[in-house]
Amino acid sequence: MNRLRPLILLLSLLLLPPALAQKPAAKKTAAAKPATSLVERIGSTAFIRVEAGSFNDLSPRQKELVWWLTRASIAVDPIIYDQSSRFGLRQKYLLEMIVAHPQGIDPAVYKKVLDYTKLFWANHGNHNNTTAQKFVPEFTFEELEQAATRAMKSAPGAGISEEPIGQDLEELRASIFDPNFEPQLTAKSPRGGLDIIQASANNFYAPGVTVADLEKFAETHPLNSRVVKTADGKLVEEVYRAGTPDGSLQPGLYAEYLGRAIEYLGKARPLAEAGQAAVIDALIKYYQTGDPRDWIRFGILWVQNNPAVDFANGFIEVYRDPRGAKGTSQSFVSVTDEKLNKLMVKIAQNAQTFEEHAPWAEQYKKKGVKPPLAKAIETVVETGDFAVGVVGDNLPNENEVREKYGTKSFLFTGSTRALNHARGTASLNEFAYDAEDKELSLKYGDEAEDLLTALHEIIGHGSGKVSPKLTQDPSTYLKEYYSTLEEARADLMALWSIWDPRLRELGLVSHPDVAKAMYLRQFRAPLTQLNSIPRGDTIEEDHQRDRQLIALYIMDKVPGSLEWAHHDDKTYMHVVDYQKARQGVGMLLAELMRIKGEGDYPAIKELVDRYGVRFDPKLRDEVVARFKSLNLPSYWCGINAELSAKTDKTGKVTAVTMSYPDDIRKQRMGYAAMYHPELKLK
Ligand SMILES: [Zn+2]
Repeated sequence: MNRLRPLILLLSLLLLPPALAQKPAAKKTAAAKPATSLVERIGSTAFIRVEAGSFNDLSPRQKELVWWLTRASIAVDPIIYDQSSRFGLRQKYLLEMIVAHPQGIDPAVYKKVLDYTKLFWANHGNHNNTTAQKFVPEFTFEELEQAATRAMKSAPGAGISEEPIGQDLEELRASIFDPNFEPQLTAKSPRGGLDIIQASANNFYAPGVTVADLEKFAETHPLNSRVVKTADGKLVEEVYRAGTPDGSLQPGLYAEYLGRAIEYLGKARPLAEAGQAAVIDALIKYYQTGDPRDWIRFGILWVQNNPAVDFANGFIEVYRDPRGAKGTSQSFVSVTDEKLNKLMVKIAQNAQTFEEHAPWAEQYKKKGVKPPLAKAIETVVETGDFAVGVVGDNLPNENEVREKYGTKSFLFTGSTRALNHARGTASLNEFAYDAEDKELSLKYGDEAEDLLTALHEIIGHGSGKVSPKLTQDPSTYLKEYYSTLEEARADLMALWSIWDPRLRELGLVSHPDVAKAMYLRQFRAPLTQLNSIPRGDTIEEDHQRDRQLIALYIMDKVPGSLEWAHHDDKTYMHVVDYQKARQGVGMLLAELMRIKGEGDYPAIKELVDRYGVRFDPKLRDEVVARFKSLNLPSYWCGINAELSAKTDKTGKVTAVTMSYPDDIRKQRMGYAAMYHPELKLK
């Protein structure tokens, strides 16, 4: 099973280094009011609006397809709460019950419950999505009890379970209020004599199941079952499935949610894009049977289908399970971002030209370049185990599909823009060298970033040829330095080619200053990225090494290109001369291509160790302090676009429209009401 998601790491670092915090908030045409995607902030968590403007260009049929696929995404959303904790769904219902019925609750208590509920939604439970650590509410048990009692009175017929409310709350008490009760969602280094499963709060294995038990047990549904221990000590799997219509397979775990998803997928099917009906059929079958072979069949069809309206829906990623076996439920529905996609296609069509214009020696130039293509998308909805911080994905995970049929790579451009716009101009104000740099970044930053992404991916990683002397992949020769080299090579190829007149001829660059904006962004990164390394004095991460290597090499080799500047006791990176900086880009790019082409380990070790690894901890402390004063959020929760469908008397959808909510409460309560009408907000 392949658990690597290379693009995630690559893109989250490539597209979103701290340097990008200076991202312009305003679109080029809207000079007056900066557009921000930031809706709300609770502590260090920010709630941001994810826009999907490409939806508006779809045909009415495609819009209705998006509508039904989106319903299927929302239908599976509750599953992740149960997978994260055996208390998750009851906690969720209790909190939503109170949120839906504020009448008679002390407003101060209601506010505390609402804030906690928003964080609960943002993290799919009460363990932090990033750190996996539990967070506890600011209200007391007594306050919760009073609020719940009032809410129940306002909502006749509702109940967390058949139990009287006092007992029900008592059962949830430790799970909500005790920070030491099941403190870690996923514990890979458990304490206190527990094994990794016992120490993890997640619900892939019932209480009592141990790692030792599982070693002697062969699962039939490794990705999609919960393992429980029977009274006589035997292990059995509760398979996630809806059951088959002919009754040959009984409903399993999550049948209610999967059944609802199947219903909506069935409505999407007649509206499907070319080749997509078979994909939808295969997913319906898999959700009915839970059969791993049906999941593979779905993956094979899905990966070969590349429509404008696309989706992911399934038990996909396994990193929440300390054993790395069980997949968490997640889903998105996407619309192709035609603007960026056209950019990437045009660059790909001209890849041979850029290869010929590359600054490296002839013998390393590739002929007949066929670069890989990623698909730029905007997500209309993301549900389940999904976070807006994911800005790239490469699926499916199953090796047997990947090897034969390849993968689909997604660039989540809507999420990237939302994150950048939410970060706003605060960091730019702090780290830009002067007013001119700031203005250039504001004006051309969006465009420079799209181009950097496209050039890095397509002609960066896709370019160059190695010497026939090499009998193995260059990574075998360059070992631990290979990734740094490859990321630096891709960045440099973008920084080199952005000045190429061919890009302007193709109409891909609106103004020569776009290149300057790209350089400003790239060369601020070695400074701002120090904020992410609070301890020590070395860089370990490859993309961070790549950026520092590039800047310090150029500074050293080409006098008058870049310099560290100081004013008001603060340090800045100053691009003194863009053309001299580009000269340095060409020198390093030619050398890195030679090193890759020859598998020259001593040379790459020398370069990276000299320029890419060490930094001055005093400078880091300064950067950390400056960021601290900016008080930027550390975790992001996306608010999906809101679709609404108009229907005629027969219930047939006649029109689907999209809007952007500015309140997560309304949206998530709407999702909850799919299963619990009493939670519908009035
Ligand atoms: Zn890369």
